[in-house]
Formats: sequence, C-alpha cells, structure tokens
Amino acid sequence: MILEISPEQKAFQQTVEQFATDRVRPQAAAIDEDAAFPRELIREAARLGLMGMTIAPPWGGGGRDYVSYALGIEALARGSAVVAVIAAVNNSLVGEPLEEFGSDSQKEQWLRRIAIGESIGSFALSEEHAGSDAANQQTVARLDERGYVISGRKVWVANAEAADLVVVFAATEPGLRGRGVSAFLVPIDAPGLSRVTTADSLGVRGLGCMDLEFHDVRVGTDALLGAAGDGFRIAMWALDGGRVAIAAQALGVGQAALDEALHHARTHEAFGQPIGNYQAIQWMLADMATELDAARMLTLKAADSRQRHARATLDASMAKLFASEAAHHAADKAMQILASKGYRRGSVVERLFRDVRATEIYQGTSEVQRMVIAEQILQ
Ligand SMILES: Cc1cc2nc3c(=O)[nH]c(=O)nc-3n(C[C@H](O)[C@H](O)[C@H](O)COP(=O)(O)OP(=O)(O)OC[C@H]3O[C@@H](n4cnc5c(N)ncnc54)[C@H](O)[C@@H]3O)c2cc1C
Repeated sequence: MILEISPEQKAFQQTVEQFATDRVRPQAAAIDEDAAFPRELIREAARLGLMGMTIAPPWGGGGRDYVSYALGIEALARGSAVVAVIAAVNNSLVGEPLEEFGSDSQKEQWLRRIAIGESIGSFALSEEHAGSDAANQQTVARLDERGYVISGRKVWVANAEAADLVVVFAATEPGLRGRGVSAFLVPIDAPGLSRVTTADSLGVRGLGCMDLEFHDVRVGTDALLGAAGDGFRIAMWALDGGRVAIAAQALGVGQAALDEALHHARTHEAFGQPIGNYQAIQWMLADMATELDAARMLTLKAADSRQRHARATLDASMAKLFASEAAHHAADKAMQILASKGYRRGSVVERLFRDVRATEIYQGTSEVQRMVIAEQILQ
C-alpha cells in the first residue's frame, strides 16, 4: 500500500497552492468583510482551469482525477473558504451531473461554459422544509402540452448571486417523495424566476447565497436533466462528489487554522518564552495536526473511491463528517492558542472559526452524514 500522490498530482497541487497564496489569501479578508461574490478572482481561477477541474477536456474541463480535485479544493480553501466552495459547487454539483446525465445538446449549451467558468452554476435542492429531508420537495413542476411549469421557493442557493444556470429539483409526481422528483436546467434569467436576498450569514460570506422564487417558470421538456423521476438519484449522485469536495474544503480551513496557531506558538511569548514551549499548547497543536492528517487520509480515500466507483456514498459521508469536525476542532483550538489576538474581529482565526462551521451544515449536516453511514454499514 503506497500512500503517495503522483508527481502530476503534486504539480497540480503546487500550482493551486501558488495561486491561493499569491491571489486568493490576500483577498480573503475583503471577501468576508464585503460579503461580495468575488467575480474577478473566480475569473482568474477559471483561467487556471479551477472551475471545471474534473470535467473532460473535450468539454473545456481540466480532466483532473478526483484526488487532484480534492487537493485543489483543499489548497483553495487554505486561501479562502468561499472561493473553494464556489468552485466546488460549480464543479461537483453542476458540471459533473451535466456531464454524467446531460444530453449532447444540454452539454453543448451549458457544460463547456460551466467548465471554463464563462457561466457560473448553482444547485437548488433545499427548501424551508426540505433540508435534511430533501425528498420532501414542495416545489412542483407541472407537465402540460408545452413543457413544464415550475412553482415554489428554494433556499440558501450558493453562487446564485452570480449564476447563469441553476440545477433545480422539483416534484413532478408529488406524494412519491424521492421517486417523484425531477431535475431541470433553468437559466437564471428565465421569466418568473426571481432571486431574493436573504439575511446575512455567520461565515462563508461572499458565497452569493440567495433564495430563488419560481412563479410559474416555463421550461421545455428538453430542460429535464436525465429522465423524469430521476432527480433525487441525480442529486444524491452529485452530493457524493460534493461531499468529498466539502471534506477537502474543511481540511483547507483547518490547515489554515493550524498554520496560524503554529506561527503564534513560535512567535508569541508569555512568562519569558514562546508559548509553543508549553506542553499545554504543544498538545493542542499535536491533536490538531493528528486529526487533520486523519481527515486528509479519509478525504483522499473518498476522492479515490469517487474516481473509481459508480457511487462513493459511504466514503464521501465519512470523509465529510470527520473532516468538518476535525477542522472545527482545529479552528477552536487555534482560537484558544491565539486567545485575545484570535478573538479580535478581523483576525484570520476569527474568520476561519466562522467559515468552518458551515462545513458541518451544508451538503448534509453531520447528523445526516451519520444517518447515511449507519444505513450503509447496516445494509
Ligand atoms: C452557507 C450555506 C450554503 C448552502 N448552499 C446550498 C446550496 O447551494 N444548495 C442547496 O440546495 N442547499 C444549500 N444549503 C442548505 C443546506 O444544505 C441545508 O441547510 C442543510 O441540508 C440542512 O437543512 P436545514 O438547514 O433545513 O436543517 P434541518 O433539516 O431543518 O435540520 C435541523 C436540525 O435537525 C437535524 N435533523 C434533521 N433530521 C434529523 C433526523 N432524522 N435525525 C437526526 N437529526 C435530524 C439536523 O441535523 C439539524 O441539526 C446551504 C446552507 C448553508 C448554511
């Protein structure tokens, strides 16, 4: 068993790390402060092939394997959690299901633009009463002689502020729960679709989260992604990849917290010596490094599983659960090590502490990951 990334994967990781260090990290505080979607930075990321890392080159993507993708998302998140999620949503939740389930004409129309970052994609599954219980879709798509008419409200749609395309899930056979859900490709400027600004969020500010209201939005049957009734399966398939990406995102944030804590432990003195000389601080650092490394192993294993198998549900849930909790612990310990310097509004650790919390909530809460894991191992 050789636990080493290939020279090609290493080279890609270094390219993304360089970009994250030179371009992303210097802007992370401003993105958070202004809560503004970082359009120009995303254009730069797109020019490096980071908006469609795993999409095949004929469609304009980077053609990277999933381990490279996870390494890329981790590196981006070390610079800014927000930039990492924007890329992850575009890639895993929009580009990948389009590539896997889209017709040739849907791919012609959307996939190339999504993969090169010319268009931004978003994924609208959650509703007020369909978060953890995602099969409980109240948004309805009625079929008539001219196509489908979509009505309902989606909440917390990341990237929505800048999106051109939204993958929307709606009940085409209400009452059948997951078996009656279909997926649709809807242009964000479709008549009847409006974006609603919602309350500010604790962290990942700048992610462009908005609610989407559908008032009789008309689409043709050619807007269906996959077959009618396949929507829930498509969403769960996409989330296998998305959860690997969120594990990698959490890892990047946790690693950034460890970096800050290590620097402070080496340079800040108390009682006449660096605080890193004290065992109490050393043990916190040791726990952070150990948990993050374990999380990295699980994340890379899940990425490899996503690359090689039709479904990676168990590995993806384990990786997301463990990495998000490890990263949360790391941000918490970093706050303890920096103490008042970390607690100050505007400190790097304060931002990481807020950003990391979302990784235990979106793309399935930690409780949902535990439910998925239990279901899989009991099978
Ligand atoms: C920053 C951010 C970005 C997001 N981006 C998107 C996006 O792009 N697209 C999208 O579709 N959604 C998005 N979401 C929504 C996200 O996926 C949901 O918030 C998440 O799935 C949880 O749903 P909920 O908030 O409705 O909580 P609920 O489902 O109401 O859960 C409330 C609590 O109950 C627990 N719980 C629920 N059911 C059970 C059970 N059976 N057993 C035990 N505990 C249970 C949950 O774990 C949680 O602790 C985003 C959310 C956030 C915060």
